[in-house]
Amino acid sequence: MSAVPEFARRYDTLVVGGGNAALCAAISARRAGASVLVLEGAPRFYRGGNTRHTRNMRCVHDSATAFLTGPYSEEEFWDDLLHVTGGRTDEELARLMIRRSRDMLGWIAEQGVRFQPSLGGTLSLGRTNAFFLGGGRAMLNALYRTAEDLGVVIAYESEVIGLDIADGRFESALVHRDGVRHTVRAATLVAAAGGFEANLEWLKEHWGEPADNFLIRGTPYNRGTVLRMLLDCGVEAVGDPTQCHAVAIDARAPKFDGGIITRLDCVVFGIVVNRDARRFHDEGEDFWPKRYAIWGRLVAAQPDQIAYILFDAKSRDLFMPSLYPPVEAATPGELAERLGLDPAALERTVAEFNAAVRPGTFDHTVLDDCRTEGLSPPKSHWARRLDTPPFYAYPVRPGITFTYLGTRVDGDARMRMADGKPAANMFAAGEIMAGNVLGRGYAAGIGMTIGSVFGRIAGQEAASHARN
Ligand SMILES: Cc1cc2nc3c(=O)[nH]c(=O)nc-3n(C[C@H](O)[C@H](O)[C@H](O)COP(=O)(O)OP(=O)(O)OC[C@H]3O[C@@H](n4cnc5c(N)ncnc54)[C@H](O)[C@@H]3O)c2cc1C
Repeated sequence: MSAVPEFARRYDTLVVGGGNAALCAAISARRAGASVLVLEGAPRFYRGGNTRHTRNMRCVHDSATAFLTGPYSEEEFWDDLLHVTGGRTDEELARLMIRRSRDMLGWIAEQGVRFQPSLGGTLSLGRTNAFFLGGGRAMLNALYRTAEDLGVVIAYESEVIGLDIADGRFESALVHRDGVRHTVRAATLVAAAGGFEANLEWLKEHWGEPADNFLIRGTPYNRGTVLRMLLDCGVEAVGDPTQCHAVAIDARAPKFDGGIITRLDCVVFGIVVNRDARRFHDEGEDFWPKRYAIWGRLVAAQPDQIAYILFDAKSRDLFMPSLYPPVEAATPGELAERLGLDPAALERTVAEFNAAVRPGTFDHTVLDDCRTEGLSPPKSHWARRLDTPPFYAYPVRPGITFTYLGTRVDGDARMRMADGKPAANMFAAGEIMAGNVLGRGYAAGIGMTIGSVFGRIAGQEAASHARN
């Protein structure tokens, strides 16, 4: 158990947030000799923000291990990042993160986290990404246990609602807990309080009314309060507020916290239509791990931000099942009726698609030769006629994972002020500074790399600053 928080005391390092980035920072600060208080806004049961939902982390490694199928070099990691961001990344910070990721698997394991071989049926990440044994919750439990054993003090249901910052120097935080407001002072601050994805009003500022139809895949506690306060206090912003990680998730998922089991990975096996029963993007453009993260934005651009993944009996067992069963019918017309779509329009779309499919040898493990001809948009691979009943559909909506707008940091994870000066005693790690590395796009498992690497650095730097 964690020691009882003493809000009247001045800690060396105050960590705001309770996910991976916060815990990595807290542990490394404590190991470097600092007294550390962690303020987690959520209740203990919901501790750990979006980290609770994670499965894996992308790290450089030189050879296969018991749980990774082969090596993953710094250059390959850099190429992957360059590819997904289209070059919109801070090269110095990105290369630093990649370099430092080499030690992370060992370091994380030293903190009690265990790994396992890649899960089948996910995103084919067995070589590049290390999977946490038991998933994100088990990973967090290990980090919390280690932090507590080291003497890190953890306060739950302790939301930071104010920051006293003058000229780039943090003085204290205003904390709301059990209906009481406390002022907590510390020599250094590590902000690890996530993005603003759960703040629908903030999303609407940039996306407009369509944001009402977004579903938030993770914690409702990441409302961006700390990020907003830091930016208002003169910390330099980094990233575009409309950039985020967004995937297509089951439209029946809850508004918040539906987690990984609401994601649908069957796009490549069928066709995707919008409210008007029209296709709008090439479903077989590339391997799913390289394309899954564009479908949230694609669906967001459709009328009413809704779409439907259609497939037939041939594909039913080719992908990982999700939380809800698909809608099922004997014909495409009947399926349309069940979905509330125009049956004639859907029958037409399916007939046009079927007529355009060229014969080929279906193999979803390679970029096969099953494609359409003369259809717009085309389906470039894995195109098979929808002709075998029953027919199935999943309704999907944009599922926002996390936002990229954040605080600018340097290689010490130290925040930079809008006037270009380094902040005196403020550091940031995780989603709250992800925009330094992710200008756009996403490579699976990098969210945890950002949090772990910069969390560890932030903790060390904060402790060293506090001691001096
Ligand atoms: C469904 C899902 C699956 C994912 N899978 C993966 C994966 O497999 N691999 C991967 O790399 N990434 C994955 N991600 C992304 C990953 O979760 C994040 O990138 C990572 O967890 C961010 O860590 P963090 O510590 O910065 O934020 P979080 O883990 O979200 O933690 C933020 C913390 O801040 C707290 N907080 C917020 N505001 C306040 C406040 N005002 N006061 C006090 N506390 C506050 C929150 O309660 C929370 O504990 C996934 C995300 C989701 C939603």
